[in-house]
Amino acid sequence: MSFDVEAIRAQFPILSTQVHGKPLVYLDSGASSQKPEAVLDAMDHYYRHTHSNVHRGVHELSQLATEAYEATRTKVANWINAASEREVVFTRGTTEAINLVAQTFGLRLTAGDRILVSELEHHANLVPWQMLAQRSGAALVKIPVMPNGELDQSVYRAELAKGAALVAICAVSNALGTRIPVKDMCAQARAAGAVTLVDGAQAVPHDRVDVQALGCDFYAFSSHKMYGPTGIGVLYGREAVLETLPPWQGGGDMIDHVTFESSTYNVLPYRLEAGTPSIAEGIGLGAAIDWLHSFDFDAAAAHEQALYDYARTELAAIDGLRLIGTAGAACGAISFEIAGIAASDLGTLLDQQGIAVRTGHHCAMPALQAMGVNGTTRASLGIYNTRGDIDALVAGIDVAMGILL
Ligand code: PMP
Repeated sequence: MSFDVEAIRAQFPILSTQVHGKPLVYLDSGASSQKPEAVLDAMDHYYRHTHSNVHRGVHELSQLATEAYEATRTKVANWINAASEREVVFTRGTTEAINLVAQTFGLRLTAGDRILVSELEHHANLVPWQMLAQRSGAALVKIPVMPNGELDQSVYRAELAKGAALVAICAVSNALGTRIPVKDMCAQARAAGAVTLVDGAQAVPHDRVDVQALGCDFYAFSSHKMYGPTGIGVLYGREAVLETLPPWQGGGDMIDHVTFESSTYNVLPYRLEAGTPSIAEGIGLGAAIDWLHSFDFDAAAAHEQALYDYARTELAAIDGLRLIGTAGAACGAISFEIAGIAASDLGTLLDQQGIAVRTGHHCAMPALQAMGVNGTTRASLGIYNTRGDIDALVAGIDVAMGILL
């Protein structure tokens, strides 16, 4: 199978929208990707024909809803090569998945423990650890970012040698696009006795993920960045580690038996999932994974990588434009600044031309501070982007520079 980007685009109704009277050029998939018909249809079909609460009813609709929702757990387990469905915990997204770990695994940390976190992280993989450090007295230790946007591996090794309870790193930086050598870093962490959490939010749309090959203990991601709906995400946890976590939120579904005084708890993964879940969204995520299987994902990834490299080259050739983050291994997001132009002004002028990019700190303030900037303009790619989109961006920047400089 080869990859036909026009056939892919045709499956995304929103891509034929006009914005300010111009054809939409969507370069903000790092914030959230668009959704193909297959996902929209699956959610619509569920609400029209099989909506009911899951895990509870003996009646037909509840069983159909449960089957469709639980089928996604199997699809996720296969997609990321988890050893079993018991290792797939549904959450609202990456943020909730990381907070779940911080508030369950985190209970065992005390003063003297060390949490190693990279300086590149999205706030979702930093603030929960800051809060945990404050609660527990554990030390929050930085793995610094270098001027090219890669992590300083010598500092990592040195800090790991001093001991760590947990290492939290992203697989791909949402702010700079840097790919982090997570497999190698997880292997070092494991050898040092540390538990590892990988924030895969920006990796799952671009790279095949094999959590067993990666050798991480936890892997978190959001459906909405991989062509599925908002409101659902995944915490993968290695079963041996998940088994050691206490329950998180209390409520329906997570229990086995309840008396007025106390409760016993359900088996994994339900023990970590309280209350009615995001059922339609779970079914939508399953449809997104089916959709990702409907074409050659590796060919799509190669298309995107070629486009990424093209975009970087074309942008870097613009006089006065500086790429923020130049690591060789990178994907998804390209951050840049233009001398004399505020990112927000550039973003506004691009929007007027129908071009959607993101400006600001991208929820990664410490990463940008380390790179010596307060904000950037960020173009981020999806499977449906084309050279035409990049050419439109370059032309749009030219127009904006003509007005602003
Ligand atoms: N981590 C990374 C690397 C991200 O890019 C994002 C989303 N921008 C998140 C975490 C948070 O994801 P969500 O808002 O879906 O929970």
